[in-house]
Formats: sequence, structure tokens, C-alpha cells
Amino acid sequence: SKERGGNQARFYNTEDTIQLNRRIVIEAGLRPALSLRQFRLSYQPVYQMTDGKLRGFEALIRWEHPELGEISPTEFIPIAEHNGLIVPIGEWVLRESCRMLASMSKYGLCNLIMSINVSAQQLQSSTFSQTVLHALKEHGIAPSSFELEIKEDNMIYNSNTAAAALSWLRAAGVRVVLDDFGTGFSSLVNLKHLPIQCIKIDKSFIKKMDLPSAEGIIVEGIIKLAHKLGLEVIAEGVEYKEQYELLSEWGCNYVQGFLLGKPKEPDMLDLTMIRCSAY
Ligand code: C2E
Ligand code: CA
Ligand code: CA
Ligand code: CA
Repeated sequence: SKERGGNQARFYNTEDTIQLNRRIVIEAGLRPALSLRQFRLSYQPVYQMTDGKLRGFEALIRWEHPELGEISPTEFIPIAEHNGLIVPIGEWVLRESCRMLASMSKYGLCNLIMSINVSAQQLQSSTFSQTVLHALKEHGIAPSSFELEIKEDNMIYNSNTAAAALSWLRAAGVRVVLDDFGTGFSSLVNLKHLPIQCIKIDKSFIKKMDLPSAEGIIVEGIIKLAHKLGLEVIAEGVEYKEQYELLSEWGCNYVQGFLLGKPKEPDMLDLTMIRCSAY
């Protein structure tokens, strides 16, 4: 310990300073990351439970920072949301995932759904719906093959711009999923007000549901409730066979998780194998 550091040591905790520096480095690095082409997309398969058929993929962003190495989106996306860079980054994700879906269909992989994560800040931008529809058109993608994963967020409920964008996109046929269901700002009442077709149960629930815990009861209940409201259900973070079997018993529509397939980058995705079911 640095007794000689005197008072300063008490005011500037080393751990906090390291964290703050890291944040500054990340934020500074985010600006040029797009033009330097440092982002990539990884694609994780989603399967239909009844027949094990591939439903499609969720696109997940990856960033290799020149000095810090691979940085998790759970770390840099909140920073990009805070400084507004999520808008241009999100547009890149949109275009890149459209390009990938179009090239998948060239391999004969039809009727797949590409899902992307969309931040509330993107929905707030007045040009969002036009940007999405334009990107789909440019790549010849049917709106029903494209899905936006939105999180429960105050901003979505309180913003007319976001609500209008979602309704407009839904009317055009684009799919909308409520992501991370069960976490954060969450109210079942909101299920009625959002133009969604599907909910995705967060992996934190799936993680504990095969143990004797409340999570199992909650997951089963969410599935039942969603179905009664005419919504489909995706479970994410499925890692064990036991979880898969319970979800199947409860009538969950789709599954995603390490048990069935990890997120992979295009060069690792064996497009010739994708036709097969994983289970
Ligand atoms: P998310 O949307 O909830 O995505 C699921 C996360 O769980 C992904 O982490 C995925 O790699 C991971 N995962 C998938 N299967 C399993 C499993 O079986 N077990 C476990 N333990 N984890 C699993 P990832 O790729 O690190 O992404 C983290 C979060 O970052 C995402 O959570 C999403 O909120 C955000 N994110 C990722 N890509 C984008 C993007 O393009 N735009 C925006 N706005 N957010 C993104
Ligand atoms: Ca997601
Ligand atoms: Ca989640
Ligand atoms: Ca997942």
C-alpha cells in the first residue's frame, strides 16, 4: 500500500482512475472506429422448437480495439448510446446485416429472419424508419425477413417519434421483438401498447430455470401469457439440454444459445451446413 501517497491516495482510488481512463480511451476510439472498419458482425442462429429448423440469425456487433483488444458490446454500446455514435454505428449494423442476409439467400438459404439490436436513441432519430426500409429495398429483402430487437426503455414509451417509427415499420411488415424481456423497465401492460410480434426472454431467467427456483415458474408463466396475447416467444442463453427440454415442454417457439450455436463471424459460418437442424 502507498502510505506515502498521503491524502491524494484517499481521493483518487486507483481502480476508479483505471476505469475512467479506459472509458476515455474507448470513447475516443469509437469515433474513428467506423471509418477504420474496426467493427464486425457475428451471427448467432435461432431455431424453431417444433421441428428444429433454422429460423434465422441475430447479428451481434464486435469491436477489436487497436490497443485494448476485443471490447464487449456490453461495454461500448452504452458509451455509444451516451454520446450519440450509436446512430451511425447502428446504420452500419443495418446495412451490413442486410448485405449478409442477401448473400445468404444467394446460397439458397431462403425464408431466414435476420434480427438486429436497435437502441432507443436510434428510434428517436426522425429518419430511422426510412433508413431501415431503404436498406431493405436496396438489398432486395422482404420486410418480413427482417426483425428489430428493441429493449424495454422509458424512452420508447415516452417518445412519440419512437412510437411512430415502430408503428410505421410494423405496418410495412418489419418484425419487432421485445428483447431482454423480464429485465429493466418492465411492465406487462406495455406489451399491449407496443407493436410487437414476439418477446425474447432474457438469458438471466433461462440460466436458473432448471434449478429449483422461481425462474422456472416465471419462464413458464411468461410463455403462457405471451401466447394468450398472441405473441411468439424466443428464449436466449440456452446452454443445457435440461433447459431446452423444459422450454420445449412449455411450448416456447424459438431457442437461441450456446447449446445450439455460438455467434460466429461470416468466414466461420458454414453456409452449406446451415440447412441442417441443430437438434
Ligand atoms: P443481447 O441482445 O441480449 O444479446 C445476447 C447476448 O448473449 C450476446 O452477447 C450473445 O453472444 C450472448 N449469448 C448468446 N447465447 C448465449 C448463451 O448460451 N450463454 C451466454 N452466457 N451468453 C449467450 P454479446 O454479443 O456480448 O452482446 C451483448 C449485448 O450487446 C447484447 O445483448 C445487446 O444488448 C448489445 N448489442 C450487441 N450487438 C449490438 C448492436 O449491433 N446494436 C446494439 N444497439 N446493441 C448490440
Ligand atoms: Ca438481442
Ligand atoms: Ca439479453
Ligand atoms: Ca442470445
